[in-house]
Amino acid sequence: MCPERPNHPDSASGPDAASGGVRWPQVASYAVNAGDWCGREHDEPEHAYRNPFQRDRDRIVHCAAFRRLQDKMQVFTGDFGDYHRTRLTHTLEVVSIARTLGRVLELNEDLVEALGLLHDIGHPPFGHAGEDVLDAFLRDCGGFNHNAFALQLVRETEIRTPEFRGLNLSRNILDCQTWRAGKQGVAPNLECQVVDLADSIAYNAHDLDDALQLGLLDWHALLELPIVADIARSLPVASVRDSETRRKILVRTLIDEQVTDAINNSRIVLSACKGWTCQQVVQSGVRLGLSHAESLEKSELERFLFSNVYRHPRVVAARDHAQSLMSALLLAFEEEPSQLPNSSSHPLPGPELRVAIAAHIAGMTDQYCLRQHDSLVRRV
Ligand code: MG
Repeated sequence: MCPERPNHPDSASGPDAASGGVRWPQVASYAVNAGDWCGREHDEPEHAYRNPFQRDRDRIVHCAAFRRLQDKMQVFTGDFGDYHRTRLTHTLEVVSIARTLGRVLELNEDLVEALGLLHDIGHPPFGHAGEDVLDAFLRDCGGFNHNAFALQLVRETEIRTPEFRGLNLSRNILDCQTWRAGKQGVAPNLECQVVDLADSIAYNAHDLDDALQLGLLDWHALLELPIVADIARSLPVASVRDSETRRKILVRTLIDEQVTDAINNSRIVLSACKGWTCQQVVQSGVRLGLSHAESLEKSELERFLFSNVYRHPRVVAARDHAQSLMSALLLAFEEEPSQLPNSSSHPLPGPELRVAIAAHIAGMTDQYCLRQHDSLVRRV
């Protein structure tokens, strides 16, 4: 939704005129339709057969920052093995759940997919542990926020043409990411809401799966959670004895139960919005999400994960190690800014240099950050 701007010139006379040879998905009135397409910061000719959000999706998938998600940790570093999720596989699971929600609720699935692929692209190395270090480093310069950094990556850092910087994503995408960076008011559209919902459904389920597989969680302690106990009661007896099968059934049932609840609850909400436009549902504060009962169980699961997984001694030790390593690397760059790329044009010591250092490190993968630490701090 972009009420303050004129629509893209091609979209003024409706979906058919807007699309030309481009196919827009058939969606409900309250979804982002062709007429809601807000154009790009830099005008570009329309593509012959991909709609603007499909082009956004492809630009995100083909950019370097997206590929680097394969070596950025979600919760567990590479030292824990190779079963657990990375930031990339988490992203793909979010997209999978969000597309299901979007399709069933007749939202714009192309926009949902692009938003899901983008949603974690601004994460620095070592996840939230790394983010906290960067935030403290930039305390006097506005702090660090991975959602805001995502905007910097796609608007400034990534280069795909000599004519302008950035990926030139649609304003619809940028508006959603801007909202994610500030989280004030309501999301600019329902597509943005289902991506946020899918994010938490995905990470709760896969963090549980990873922690059980790693032996960080005790199955019997988990059974104290009603949401898990209910699922466990319905498990076939044979699978209850086999811990791996039991874990997999638990995780997929957990996702299925929450997605089904979100769909049923959202359908009730949307039944009062027949014929409404995207702008009307946003201005009316329509919120898609889980039922009250399911939300309570989800919150309980999140508290359990916080206490038993994110604060597990092994996870805390890995977090502390990553944080001390990143702090040392920040200091090394500050003491020796000539080590920055394009060092001939780096700013003088002060806030601008700190921002440049933080941006450089935030774009690194976990492994590259470790190698830089070896090179600049340990001098090996
Ligand atoms: Mg996420």
